[in-house]
Amino acid sequence: MARYIFVTGGVVSSLGKGLSSASLAYLLQSRGYKVRLRKLDPYLNVDPGTMSPFQHGEVFVTDDGAETDLDLGHYERFSGVTAKKTDNITTGKIYSDVLRKERKGQYLGKTVQVIPHITDRIKEFIKHDTHKEDFVICEIGGIVGDIESLPFVEAIRQFSNDIGKKNALFIHLTLVPYLKASDEIKTKPTQHSVKELRSIGIQPDIIICRSERPIPLDHRKKISLFCNVDIKNVIETVDVKTIYEAPISFFNQKLDIQVLNYFKLKSKKPANLNPWKKITQITLNTKRHVNIAIIGKYVELKDAYKSLDEALTHGGISNNLKVNLVRIDSEKLKVSEIKNKLKNVSGILIPGGFGKRGTEGKIEAIRYARINKIPFLGICYGMQMAIIEFARNQLKIKKATSSEFDKGGVQIIGLMHEWEKSGRKVKGTDKDLGGTMRLGSYDAILKDKSKIRDIYKSRLIKERHRHRYEVDISYKEKFEKKGLIFSGLSPDHKLPEIIELKNHPWFIGVQFHPEFKSRPLNPHPLFSSFIKAAKNQK
Ligand code: GLN
Repeated sequence: MARYIFVTGGVVSSLGKGLSSASLAYLLQSRGYKVRLRKLDPYLNVDPGTMSPFQHGEVFVTDDGAETDLDLGHYERFSGVTAKKTDNITTGKIYSDVLRKERKGQYLGKTVQVIPHITDRIKEFIKHDTHKEDFVICEIGGIVGDIESLPFVEAIRQFSNDIGKKNALFIHLTLVPYLKASDEIKTKPTQHSVKELRSIGIQPDIIICRSERPIPLDHRKKISLFCNVDIKNVIETVDVKTIYEAPISFFNQKLDIQVLNYFKLKSKKPANLNPWKKITQITLNTKRHVNIAIIGKYVELKDAYKSLDEALTHGGISNNLKVNLVRIDSEKLKVSEIKNKLKNVSGILIPGGFGKRGTEGKIEAIRYARINKIPFLGICYGMQMAIIEFARNQLKIKKATSSEFDKGGVQIIGLMHEWEKSGRKVKGTDKDLGGTMRLGSYDAILKDKSKIRDIYKSRLIKERHRHRYEVDISYKEKFEKKGLIFSGLSPDHKLPEIIELKNHPWFIGVQFHPEFKSRPLNPHPLFSSFIKAAKNQK
């Protein structure tokens, strides 16, 4: 049976529970164990699919089509284990499952209650769909003490009791602040947070203390004493310069060894930190850099394009250089300013997006990249905008648009049923926004002798999608005559998946999100190639 590691947070949010869980997963894997990572989110949305990136950061998409918390992206990037639908649950999902069952009368007349019905459903989820893993690491979103997270904390308490305490480990991550004015490190918030956790029945086995500077031994002793945790299990995590240092830092702090000791397990092989050391070295020490513009609606929030930022960094790693991201708010981008704002960038990227706001600035920026032969990558919405730009300026279809934001005009981008009359199944309706998109991994067939084929070195690729609208395939010939090739199609040849410009050093649009599959130890070829093109541009 799998052993379960539960990771809770205290004092404040955003301490890096996801990254800590992901780093621990890597270390345990590296020591020869099979690991799975899961996230339990206390909010009421059924999934983050309908949440604004301003609120919650990026929505991460799994191969099997789940819209999930961005922490699953960290998990995949650090552990290499492909996340699944069953790896992220929310209070909203739990309640909707329970209420559906209640409406069907499946509780046989009983009063349906948080305990045991909600907690039972949470416990089912924690155990569900596991496959001979040695460890399942479950991160609980939010912080201990939040009203919303109570049922989850109660459920994991019960769960550890059900499977036996020796099979369950509680890690609590807290903040140990440094007060500049008094030049002191404070352990009190940690003590309080652990007290809170204990009041709901959980005694942490390991405390990870996040701090901006090293925590002196006597302070760690204090935490050990007041929180009733062995000093060896009071682990500090001092701010790292790059996230790739996190596994190295936890290894140095012996987090993985303490976890194995708890379960009375031995390391099957020595942990290998060399790949992380190598990329940390590149990330921190490379002097050369390229500037890449990201023109999007959510650029002000750091986490809104998390996987994308990461994938670009990975592209830099594989080219041995740093990628400076120049974030440009598409809503504020005036057409007259484009030249000035883009004059120092070697590559332009338009990420995924929704709705009309900011589209005209994006379209103009694409025109600028096309004409000035600046490497361009359009992702999902970015590809759709590139299609509109080309249609307007090269095919002279002045009213070219997408039905997503314009009900008139010539809708070259639209819902499939808007342009297909053959009775193919309609993918979504306008009634319910949750779960009506083309989501998850789909195949694409790449054209012989195309740039994209050269980049992927394969005829068949699988990439993750998250969109409702598609480029109307019936325009293919018109575009191709003018030099914009549809170089990747769905296997039935009905959906354009990739476009590229013939007479341009590097101009590619993809209907999918390649960023979700890039990993620091295995950068995505599309990003490596894009950054290489940008490098050659300088
Ligand atoms: N809004 C566009 C669509 O739904 C693009 C979505 C995206 O970029 N992820 O098709």
